[in-house]
Amino acid sequence: MNVATRSLEQIRADFPILQRRVRDNKPLVYLDNAATTQKPQSVIEALTRFYSHYNSNIHRGVHALSEAATEAYETARKKVQTFLNAAHSHEIIFTRGTTESINLVALSFGSRFLEDGDEVLLTQMEHHANIVPWQLLQRFKNIKIKVIPITEEGTLDLNALDTLLTEKTRLLAFTHVSNALGTVNPVKKLIRWAKENGLYVLVDGAQAVPHLPVDVQDLQVDFYVFSGHKIYGPTGIGVLYGKTELLEAMPPYQGGGDMIKRVTFEKTLFNDLPMKFEAGTPNIAGAIGLGAAIDYIQQVGYDFIQQQEQQLLDHATRLLSEIPEIKIIGTAKEKAAVVSFVCEGVHPHDIGTLLDLEGVAVRAGHHCAQPVMDFYGLSATVRASFAFYNTMEEVEYFVQALKKAIRFFKR
Ligand code: PMP
Repeated sequence: MNVATRSLEQIRADFPILQRRVRDNKPLVYLDNAATTQKPQSVIEALTRFYSHYNSNIHRGVHALSEAATEAYETARKKVQTFLNAAHSHEIIFTRGTTESINLVALSFGSRFLEDGDEVLLTQMEHHANIVPWQLLQRFKNIKIKVIPITEEGTLDLNALDTLLTEKTRLLAFTHVSNALGTVNPVKKLIRWAKENGLYVLVDGAQAVPHLPVDVQDLQVDFYVFSGHKIYGPTGIGVLYGKTELLEAMPPYQGGGDMIKRVTFEKTLFNDLPMKFEAGTPNIAGAIGLGAAIDYIQQVGYDFIQQQEQQLLDHATRLLSEIPEIKIIGTAKEKAAVVSFVCEGVHPHDIGTLLDLEGVAVRAGHHCAQPVMDFYGLSATVRASFAFYNTMEEVEYFVQALKKAIRFFKR
């Protein structure tokens, strides 16, 4: 056994759920990591420790537990700051997840920085979470949504950028990595183009941070958002990174406790960053769990993550390409460890169901990216998405199970 294999085994042992058996005692082969990742013991323990040792509300109490909870919550914020290399910890706003972060920006930034007639540039490969909030903003502001098209391989058609740009374009909001296709977008190039043209930029990092390191200062991005549960942390916690000068100029998104300095019935003075955007009791345990997840990722290291995931992606792509009935959707050169595919004559949901009977968890559906499906004239795909804890043997088992499913439907 070589060192790499041994360390992968040790890594897998960190995730209790990976030892589970499902469907008539079959080993769980979890290939639905783009939907949510599994949690290492250290994250589970961080949650348990919070609730069993120092559960308390934050920023308010003068007692020992509240002090400990506040410190742990604010330490988690600092961990996110370091993780993204943000200039200040007050630029890190805790939210419920990517979805809430984008809704916050659309409504708050939109109300302050966008005017009737302004244009927002999205892409054809956005998750619904980066489409619908901008449509909701249209109830209050007469903004126009424009869309950067994609090519057959599932990359952005960058030739269209200059054609789409007008003097009314204000914001470019796009996904760093596509959840439906796996495409890694040329984030630096897009931000440089946007900045050269005076645009604000929001990047949806939900599918990027699990796979690659992000440095918001190096990117010079205005807003960067992600979800805790996709990077081995808890559900219900996420992050909005925003540049200080923008967050300071933006109005609060929600009102309530913690986001104020002084309230009277006549007038309310809002709190400073980051509290201005964290109304009410936040997901304290979730933030602490996210901090533990970041510690875990840093311990594993992106070098290992990228090397392992690239091997899994290459192996899966090669084996799937050898099956005549399979067509891979999304063949960009730069891809994260996500393979979407369709199978001639078999509905994706039927494939998903048969794979599940073999213990293989994949996703079948539109992946909350219906415009991507529309582009390919499909209603759904099967999506296998890998994490660094997956093995080459699991990839092979999945492909065998898929071949068995195809044989079943061809009978
Ligand atoms: N954007 C992308 C690219 C995603 O993959 C997802 C989750 N599938 C989201 C946004 C929404 O994330 P959440 O549901 O955690 O808010």
